[in-house]
Amino acid sequence: MSRPGSPGTQPGPERTLPVPTTGTAPAVPASPEQALAELHAGNRRFVTGAPRHPNQDAGHRAAVADGQHPFAVIVGCSDSRLAAEIIFDRGLGDLFVVRTAGHTIGPEVLGSVEYAVTVLGTPLVVVLGHDSCGAVQAARAADATGTPPVGHLCAVVDAVVPSLRRAAAQGVEDIDGIVDIHIAHTVEAMLDRSAVLAAEVAAGRCGVAGMSYRLTAGEVRTVAAVPARTVDAPEPAASAA
Ligand SMILES: [Zn+2]
Repeated sequence: MSRPGSPGTQPGPERTLPVPTTGTAPAVPASPEQALAELHAGNRRFVTGAPRHPNQDAGHRAAVADGQHPFAVIVGCSDSRLAAEIIFDRGLGDLFVVRTAGHTIGPEVLGSVEYAVTVLGTPLVVVLGHDSCGAVQAARAADATGTPPVGHLCAVVDAVVPSLRRAAAQGVEDIDGIVDIHIAHTVEAMLDRSAVLAAEVAAGRCGVAGMSYRLTAGEVRTVAAVPARTVDAPEPAASAA
């Protein structure tokens, strides 16, 4: 981590943004900061019971049929209570959503994130976790008993275990504290494993944030943030002879 700078001022890929078709549609964010602010604004509308359900009408559906320019990638837990467009009060074409149990990241997830950031020009990537996460609880139970789950659930548990180790090292034992550590760890892991994403952040075209959602209150909190231009550009990969 180095060189904190003024993020989002570097011109990104040229984009043709869809024109909102109703007077109530929010502005289309073009920078990581604007995108994060827009997510929080939508979540406040959802929490207070005053959602606008923007960009869900037939006119907007037709307007975005020829192309998409989502302003945020949401790498969220698959939990059925964590539907991104609902909790952020957005609509069609706004969010590029990738979901796995415990927001665990494998090659397909990273490839999807890289597609959104490099091809669609999406300026913000959010890791979205939540309290009482079943995937984190399953990992903790498997780790405590030494009994791995059957089938491919092992892959989810294995991906969460490093976060359990980090939480233990920090003396954090409550499940929701562990979840927040797992969210921050997922943010770091994405940047470590995706040189493409790290390069976009280093170039100022993208930011990454971790958010934690409260199931009962419906609120999101930002628990990790990597603003644009705050990571070093990755070393170029050695080219094949
Ligand atoms: Zn979960």
